[in-house]
Amino acid sequence: MEPRLRIKFWGVRGSAPTPEAQKLEYGGNTSCVELRLPDGGLLILDAGYGIRNLGLALQAEHGAAPVSAQVFLSHYHWDHIQGIPFFAPLYGPKNRVVFHAAGFRGSVRKMLQNQMADPYFPVLFDAVGADREFVEMDRAPVSYHGVSVHAFEVNHPQRALGYRIEADGAVVVYAPDREHGDARLDALIREYSQGADLLITDAQYTPEEYESKRGWGHSTWLECIRLAEDAKVRELMFFHHDPGRSDAQLAGILESARERFPNCFAAKEGFEIAL
Ligand SMILES: [Zn+2]
Ligand SMILES: [Zn+2]
Repeated sequence: MEPRLRIKFWGVRGSAPTPEAQKLEYGGNTSCVELRLPDGGLLILDAGYGIRNLGLALQAEHGAAPVSAQVFLSHYHWDHIQGIPFFAPLYGPKNRVVFHAAGFRGSVRKMLQNQMADPYFPVLFDAVGADREFVEMDRAPVSYHGVSVHAFEVNHPQRALGYRIEADGAVVVYAPDREHGDARLDALIREYSQGADLLITDAQYTPEEYESKRGWGHSTWLECIRLAEDAKVRELMFFHHDPGRSDAQLAGILESARERFPNCFAAKEGFEIAL
């Protein structure tokens, strides 16, 4: 049977890219996850540096044929948008890119114009070739090729969104930046994660590290497990790895975590899952 959804990780690192030898097994690019539908439809979760390699792969795959992408941004912190200027399909006049993001910071288009502006980047955001559209996600779910995407607010400085994606019964929840400890939003993420086949979420810190990082907007691997247990999630994917975290440390965390929740993984660049 053809999978309902194929998921591929292009960037798994939190906060800052880490092109350092002891971190390359898991990967050094910042947040970007590809979701592919059976008919070739393409959803992209976040546009950290990982989207650069995804864009090159799409160009190689499509050749002269147009690329159409639905991009969902969790928020506007650098590590989730810094790949946009390097996303090659954005420059192709036959291509189409739809940007979805929260409207609570103001217009989505305006936020992205601010990033590719003089003197920060030589090409202005409105000078790119692709046909673009902008959708505010905090009002209603959107549907695309039979897949529905529901946004929910998460606890994060300057506010951020998580997404629940439902494709013919397969459910993926993506909440890359999120801190536990806000009762209302803790309940909300449990509600939106309920029964997910795959939960991709913020496991930036160890419980020990967290003590000195309260209020920074990130969670711990142990809190991710509590969330996954409460929401009866089938597979848990630790994501947004701390820029200081080595491959060896991540492997150690995973070993401890699996004693409590066997079905957990640490997101790795190039890793693919079919649901
Ligand atoms: Zn982040
Ligand atoms: Zn953030």
